[in-house]
Amino acid sequence: MSNHSHETALVLFSGGQDSTTCFAWALDRFARVEALGFDYGQRHAIELACRERLLEGIRSVRPDWAGKLGESHTLAIPTLADISDTALTRDVAIAMGADGLPNTFVPGRNLVFLTFAAGLAYRRGIRHIIGGMCETDYSGYPDCRDETIKAMNAALNLGMATEFQLHTPLMWLDKAATWKLAHDLGGAGLVDLIRDHSHTCYLGERGARHDWGHGCGACPACELRAKGWREYAAREKSAARSSSSPANAGDPVSQRRH
Ligand code: ZN
Repeated sequence: MSNHSHETALVLFSGGQDSTTCFAWALDRFARVEALGFDYGQRHAIELACRERLLEGIRSVRPDWAGKLGESHTLAIPTLADISDTALTRDVAIAMGADGLPNTFVPGRNLVFLTFAAGLAYRRGIRHIIGGMCETDYSGYPDCRDETIKAMNAALNLGMATEFQLHTPLMWLDKAATWKLAHDLGGAGLVDLIRDHSHTCYLGERGARHDWGHGCGACPACELRAKGWREYAAREKSAARSSSSPANAGDPVSQRRH
């Protein structure tokens, strides 16, 4: 990957697990990182309130990143709720629709987000835009697909006559690998910060503290997060076991980077 250590990046930062991990990924690579969150009338608007706590936490987890933190922007786009009849913006039960997509699907949401992000990046002279879209655990959302993001990148570059680079570091990771990435970037401190202060629950519940963080524990977003955490914890445990067992010293599976 090319060296971006003198450049600025804009991260789509909602305050969730994925976007917080992307934010850390950007801090690791870029000289300066700005954040952009959207307020579109989502039921889980509480995630926006988590952002400030996360940014504060990042300063203490990695003091060397503190000087890289740039502006934190919030754009209100209530129009998105006006045009979508979805469980993310209305008080209805979360269920699967006849089209095979959960009714949390906001049509083209990431296309809208990326267009506004590119407009803001253009005005601020930023070329790199980072988002947590992921095709591995994506609930079937077509606007999370790698192909969609690449097409969007081409459209934005044509439409704004510029050379944006859209980065999606989580595209091919599952949720357990996303926790692992957070650990690689910021150690146990970053994992704890994301677990305790990022927000994923679609219903906007902070509620009980589970081993994977806060949330209702029953909506699709909580289920995915809990499953990922359990897999991550199991992988860490078995890696720790094999690296502490002398019998496995020559086993390539136990040759794990820390
Ligand atoms: Zn939930």
